[in-house]
Amino acid sequence: MMGPPGAGKGTQSKIVCNRLGIIQISTGDILRDSVKKETILGVKAKKFMDAGNLVSDEIVIGIIEERIQEDDCKGGFILDGFPRTTDQAKALDDILTKFGRKVDHVINFEVQNEALVERLLQRAKKEGRADDNIESISNRLKIFNEQTQPLINYYTKNGISNAVAGEGDIEEISNRVKNVIKA
Ligand code: AMP
Repeated sequence: MMGPPGAGKGTQSKIVCNRLGIIQISTGDILRDSVKKETILGVKAKKFMDAGNLVSDEIVIGIIEERIQEDDCKGGFILDGFPRTTDQAKALDDILTKFGRKVDHVINFEVQNEALVERLLQRAKKEGRADDNIESISNRLKIFNEQTQPLINYYTKNGISNAVAGEGDIEEISNRVKNVIKA
């Protein structure tokens, strides 16, 4: 699941995972958990996350490589918020190839900037995420446009990228996702 912060990747990932009985892997959730537990990784990642910057490719690639080898991933998984750079996408292809697997679908949620900012500020009130403040939000949007958006071309070339309109109500969007995944 790809798309800018606030596009609904997490919400829609959970819906697909419940429907298909597969696993959601969110690098953001894994990192937030490490921050909460104050692990070495968490302490390192926190300052990048709070400012809305990306954590290093090396760290997130390592997280994914370990996580997808766990037993619960055997039946399939959704990657939520990974990859976010072309190097991460290439590393993901290498890792999956090593295990005889591949990316089946890429869903790219498209949402206007104003709607994203509004959603993230609403989420800040509900969840109190440290990075849902206006400075971090604008940085995350900028980083998305500069570093993650080019990945759409990477996956378009591979013929597996699908743009999905990410505005509307949750059910409406999940029906669009269902039409793409067709499972
Ligand atoms: P998210 O929950 O996906 O919005 O991620 C929250 C924060 O975690 C991001 O702003 C980054 O600081 C970090 N993060 C999550 N996934 C990645 C990734 N694939 N690459 C680098 N940083 C990431």
